[in-house]
Amino acid sequence: MKIGVLALQGAVAEHIRSLEAAGAEAVAVKRVEQLDELNGLVIPGGESTTIGKLMRKYGFMDAIREFSAQGKPLFGTCAGLIVLADKIEGQEEAHLQLMNMTVARNAFGRQRESFETDLEVKGIEEPIRAVFIRAPLIKSVGAGVEVLSEYNGEIVTAREGTLLAASYHPELTDDYRLHAYFLEMVKEAAAAKA
Ligand code: GLN
Repeated sequence: MKIGVLALQGAVAEHIRSLEAAGAEAVAVKRVEQLDELNGLVIPGGESTTIGKLMRKYGFMDAIREFSAQGKPLFGTCAGLIVLADKIEGQEEAHLQLMNMTVARNAFGRQRESFETDLEVKGIEEPIRAVFIRAPLIKSVGAGVEVLSEYNGEIVTAREGTLLAASYHPELTDDYRLHAYFLEMVKEAAAAKA
């Protein structure tokens, strides 16, 4: 399976390393034409406003919506989760608006700008190591969205069919099990198409 990491801004190399560790072939994606050869795509953490601007500039908004409409999975982490959401609290405009959820940016406040924790994720046996950096939260989810994990009662991992979203940075540790989970989604989607 070949999985791309959207390489406009943010933590790209780390995702490539984790995807490879999980057993996927991974490439940095800078041009929309590259999407054709991929089975799945990661939208990394970074700064969502910047990523959104660059996506619009280089034609990725419609291209990724089309990619998703073809049944190919997307995985958004941190800023990438914000990019996937239907609604962003306090903002008029969202980005891809593919996932049925409302998110809040920088939701942990200044005193908790960044921290690490062990997180239970539905579908993964033992807790995973999660790094939160100026992280968003999923404030509410709509129909079709399954909550995969919560931290202090707030939603931090969710899935809607072929869409996976995490508030934190799963690529900043050696624990690649969430990438392995995504790779399984990608394999299932590819098998369903074949
Ligand atoms: N706070 C950033 C945003 O709102 C996300 C932070 C991150 O991706 N680590 O885009």
